[in-house]
Amino acid sequence: MEMTEKNILTVRILEGMEKSSGCPLCYLWTECEERYLKHMLTNEVVMDPAFRGKVVAAGGFCNRHAHMLYRAIHGGDVEDGLGYALYMKDITGKIMEQLSHLQENLSNNFKSSKSRMPFHRKKRDTTALDNIINYDARRQQCPICEHLWSMNQIYLHTLVQMLDDDENFRIKFSSSKGLCLPHFASAMQIIHINKLKNPIHVVKALIDAEIKNLQLIEHLLSEFIRKQSWEFRDEHLEEEVNANILALNFLFGAEGVYLKK
Ligand SMILES: [Zn+2]
Ligand SMILES: [Zn+2]
Repeated sequence: MEMTEKNILTVRILEGMEKSSGCPLCYLWTECEERYLKHMLTNEVVMDPAFRGKVVAAGGFCNRHAHMLYRAIHGGDVEDGLGYALYMKDITGKIMEQLSHLQENLSNNFKSSKSRMPFHRKKRDTTALDNIINYDARRQQCPICEHLWSMNQIYLHTLVQMLDDDENFRIKFSSSKGLCLPHFASAMQIIHINKLKNPIHVVKALIDAEIKNLQLIEHLLSEFIRKQSWEFRDEHLEEEVNANILALNFLFGAEGVYLKK
């Protein structure tokens, strides 16, 4: 039987629930990030002028992804540093062009002995300066973030759809490791906006899983804290050894996961 796109997405969600030690959507985010970084360094993508143009237009990458891309060169799975160098050269050229433009305007201003800053006057200059100095704007445009955000939306919708369509899946999900709080909030937003067949049941399954996992994490944290005290110091740490990392990922999402406002 041929796998439809919907089936593939469903399988991915189930895989995320099975393989992850926490939020399945964080698992898929992280996996997608690793895969996409490698893909971006393949010759096929690097040599595509249209794609490189997109990267330049975005002003390059956010801090996280610029560094991750650099590390991926040494990961062994990608050709070499050529692709990275091509991206960096394009971006360097664009920034140089923008700065030269500002420099030119400054010297024109000196000549006409006007003391005001040039970018306070022309909209075009403001944009050029913004592109250089506005870190947040650059993060909003990072092509890797963009890809991760759109995949995340697709996975979120798939999960909500599965919860809406299938009672057995709702039962399975209720006793799963649940969603991290950022993904839980996003799922609630989707339920709020979209017309579902069984909204109450979907919300209940999500909340049941959250509460069960919050209770577990709180218990593990309490045990961890208790065993730090002098009188219980000889007791071995068991499952609670992971209390901090479980709490971190559950409350804030996996490292690098940040969801669009
Ligand atoms: Zn998550
Ligand atoms: Zn990014």
